[in-house]
Amino acid sequence: MSVSRHSVNTYKAEIGFAASRQPPSLLPEARTLITGDDQLITMLSCTRYLIWGGLLALAGLTAASPVATGPLPIAIRHTPSFPSSLEHRDYNTSSLSPVVSLPPTIQSDLTTLLSPSALVLLPSSPSFTQYTHRWSLNTHTNSPSYGVIVIPASERDVSLTIQYANTHSIPFLATTGTHGTWQGLSQLQGGMAIWTRNLTKMEFAADGHSATLGGGLRGNDVIPALWARGKQTTTGSCRCVSLLGPALGGGHGWLQGQYGLGADQILSARVVLANGTAVKTSNTENSDLFWALRGAGHNFGVVTEVEYKLYDAVRPEWSYQSFTFTQDRLEEVYRVHNAVMRNQSQYVVYWSLWRLVPEVDPVNPILVSTVYYNGPASEAASYFAPFAALSPLQTTPVQTTDYPGLAAAAQFRVTDWACQPKAGATVYGMDVDSYDVKGLRKSYNAFRDMIRAEPALSLSMAYLEGYSLQAVQAVPYESTAFALRDRKLLYGFLVTYEETERNKTLDAQAQNWGEKIRDAAYGDKVKQKSVYVNYAKGSESLQAMYGYEGWRQERLKMLKRKYDPKGRFSFYAPIKA
Ligand SMILES: Cc1cc2nc3c(=O)[nH]c(=O)nc-3n(C[C@H](O)[C@H](O)[C@H](O)COP(=O)(O)OP(=O)(O)OC[C@H]3O[C@@H](n4cnc5c(N)ncnc54)[C@H](O)[C@@H]3O)c2cc1C
Repeated sequence: MSVSRHSVNTYKAEIGFAASRQPPSLLPEARTLITGDDQLITMLSCTRYLIWGGLLALAGLTAASPVATGPLPIAIRHTPSFPSSLEHRDYNTSSLSPVVSLPPTIQSDLTTLLSPSALVLLPSSPSFTQYTHRWSLNTHTNSPSYGVIVIPASERDVSLTIQYANTHSIPFLATTGTHGTWQGLSQLQGGMAIWTRNLTKMEFAADGHSATLGGGLRGNDVIPALWARGKQTTTGSCRCVSLLGPALGGGHGWLQGQYGLGADQILSARVVLANGTAVKTSNTENSDLFWALRGAGHNFGVVTEVEYKLYDAVRPEWSYQSFTFTQDRLEEVYRVHNAVMRNQSQYVVYWSLWRLVPEVDPVNPILVSTVYYNGPASEAASYFAPFAALSPLQTTPVQTTDYPGLAAAAQFRVTDWACQPKAGATVYGMDVDSYDVKGLRKSYNAFRDMIRAEPALSLSMAYLEGYSLQAVQAVPYESTAFALRDRKLLYGFLVTYEETERNKTLDAQAQNWGEKIRDAAYGDKVKQKSVYVNYAKGSESLQAMYGYEGWRQERLKMLKRKYDPKGRFSFYAPIKA
């Protein structure tokens, strides 16, 4: 059984990216900023390497995956071109809030103020658009636009930038992985981006139990670097999201059952507050703020670095298998999911998704359940068996990989479809304790009806994520602002389209369908709806995101008044003081 280590070069080879393919237009200032080969690949590939095959592979339906059961008429060689309009996005902000008026001298002011390695870009700067990439490109729904982009090289630069922004009443937003889809992000039109991606510190503690990690790092930076040292920790499962965007809201990932959430790994954090002051937070310093950062963190500052827990990678091997079902099996499939989740091992993750594969069924999306087990295939067999016993339409062979390789297994590498930018994309999230099978059937029917009614939405997917909870629940419930430690399932209904011409019409339709699909999935029994803040979009209540207990709401409001009384950090799931 082979366990492969993925390196940047491996990734390059996998996507056929050669150095000679770097476009000549990459500007010198951009070159100096891009610190890793993989970052370069992401930025360049964002608009050019949409891999439709990746979507298929997510369900284990690649041509390379032999069909273990049942012949299927699947021809899987699609490579649709990515709309060229996405390469050079045109911010049409006329229907949004007024564009911010910036001091005419802002570029020279900030350049003088900040360290020599910092950059200040205006829309007229040749490389400006290289820093405006977002995962969802639609300004009408959830994408901000900027009149100035500041790229700090140090915490001091962040402090000075925020002080300058405050003096000149310029609204600002920290931006790292660019995957946030909260609708309030589009309220920032013509303001300031604080592009954190050059805060890339990675310093390992001598005892090997922690590292200081910069606020600009992504999972894709952290996972391979740790693995090279025989270490791992909880990060988002998707490589393209930042380390801290997820962790400040909780942070779900493959290893949470063993180590806890991303937020639970933070031993201390350095934060630049709304007034530009930089402070350290931990259980002993500014502990009230430290509490709030771990669950409601986007509300309280720009985190420049964190001291983050690390673990020896003592179980390097992962085994996984996918099972494909037609929609008529939905009730049986999710009853099995409910049954296996009752005693879910800390080493197992149960994922399921819905998507349309026209070659299998042109109108009814298929269901794909994948079981990931942190251990050898011989041990994993008993976790795969309940799904195999359902006689799926298709079963992939059991495969193994290592922890970094999980991203390829799930098609969550930065070059895969899931990570690629979309013309419009919104996640409709929810957290529940178990599958409400009746509700899920209604939800599925709405999902199917959406695709039938509007083929432009047919790339939409449902991600039903069943991470294990042992280490998440071992953390005292009151000890952080993350309030959903008891929820076993995280649903993300991703409603997406690639057309740009009709984006306003499609947005309206996507929104109607997205809400309908999500509402149905709750079923009849859920009295208090809960939503992981990082999968929320803006129509959810503060209680749904931050907890229904009065004390939680009061504490968050009090801390918002204390640390951000003017609501500077209010473009993402804002707490109203
Ligand atoms: C394809 C995809 C995969 C995902 N996978 C996962 C996953 O595996 N696990 C998971 O838990 N979530 C996941 N998410 C949800 C993810 O947690 C949120 O989208 C999160 O907001 C992304 O953070 P970002 O930095 O990538 O995005 P951004 O849009 O750059 O940031 C989102 C918010 O975080 C704030 N922020 C970012 N960096 C900092 C910082 N250093 N200091 C303070 N504030 C900061 C921003 O200001 C903004 O308000 C996924 C989302 C998508 C679209």
